[in-house]
Order: sequence, then C-alpha cells, then structure tokens
Amino acid sequence: MFAGHVGVALVIGRVERRVNVGLFVTAALLLDFVLWLFILLGWESVNMPDDFSTTHQPHFVFPYSHGLLAAAGWSLLAGALALPLYSYLKEARWRTAALVAAAVFSHWLLDALVHRPEMPLTTSTSPTVGLALWNNMPVALAVEAVLVALGLCLFLPHSGLARQKSIALGVLILIVLMFTVIGMTVAPPPPSTSAMAGSSCVTLVVLCGLIAWLGQLPHEERI
Ligand SMILES: [Zn+2]
Repeated sequence: MFAGHVGVALVIGRVERRVNVGLFVTAALLLDFVLWLFILLGWESVNMPDDFSTTHQPHFVFPYSHGLLAAAGWSLLAGALALPLYSYLKEARWRTAALVAAAVFSHWLLDALVHRPEMPLTTSTSPTVGLALWNNMPVALAVEAVLVALGLCLFLPHSGLARQKSIALGVLILIVLMFTVIGMTVAPPPPSTSAMAGSSCVTLVVLCGLIAWLGQLPHEERI
C-alpha cells in the first residue's frame, strides 16, 4: 500500500485546511520511512519469497515500524511533536495534533488490510495480523485507486492553493498511483533488499518534500 496512504492523508487535509497537506502525507507515510530506515540499519528485515515474481509481496519482519504497539507509539509521538509546531492555531492545535496522530495510525490500519498475517501486535514473536487483500491484487489496487480518487475529490476543490499547484499536486498523486500499480503487478524484483530500502527512503523524502512544496498555503509562501 502506497498511494492509498496518500489518499487518506488528503482526506485528513480536507478536515484541517489551515495546515500544509504535506504534513499529513508525511505522517501517513511515516511508518514506511521508519521501516526502510530500520532495514538499512539492520533492525528490521525484508526478503523476497520464492513466489515474489507472481505475488509481488515481500516478506517483512518489522515489529518496530509496523507492530500495532509501535504504530500506536509513533502516532502519539508524531501528534506530540505537531503540538508545539502548530501553536499558532491556538485551540485548533490539539485537533491538528490528533489529525497527525490519526494519519500515522491510518497507515497501520490500511497495511493490516492488505498484508498477509505478518504484522505483529508487539514484538516479532507476538501474534500477527493481516487480512491479505494483496492475495487478490486487482481488488487491493482498486481500493487504493478509490482512496486516491476520494482524497483528490475532497481535498483539491477549494483547497486555497494556486491553480497550477493544485493541478500539479493532482498529477503528482496520480503518478504515485500509477507507480503503485506498476510496482505491485509488472515490476521486476529489486536487485537487492538494501537497494530497495535505500531507493524507498529517497522516494519517500522526495515525494513528501514535493507535496509539502506544492501544498504551501499562502501564509507559508510569504515566509
Ligand atoms: Zn507500511
């Protein structure tokens, strides 16, 4: 799940228009950034099972990024960090912090929908969950497409963004959806897991940076 997380972030961005939607997209993708970083550090792992070329599903051991307990912890931490950042919103900063935490946790819920039962509740030896929607890839990708469409339809109209930036944001997110579909259907296996982790980290940083830039609100552009 990749583009679907962005779709949910856009829906959350519709709820709080005074905050750059790039923040919610970053929050919704945070667990994957932590995952790839931890894989590079050797704290979590990914391997390509024998059926990868047909299923496109790597196998993960990722209790610190995608465990239920860890996801709750990352959500609380992200919400707590957002609180002082958005103090200028006065009382609404609490709601913003809650939305950031919700965006982070939404990642776990969506991943639990598509992953095989490999998402641990706590440690790597704890029981695991996962509804395995990726076993029915057309349906899983349709769910992602619906989330993206919903996010774009709710967020873009009346977003307050300049027309060109609004169009560029829409196109960028549709490109993300296209790459998600390619990645889960016809893309060849990655040359190595470290190459996969490194390129995923870079992709996430560039994508979140681009969306934050395109999502700049008028008061941010004046800074
Ligand atoms: Zn994930």
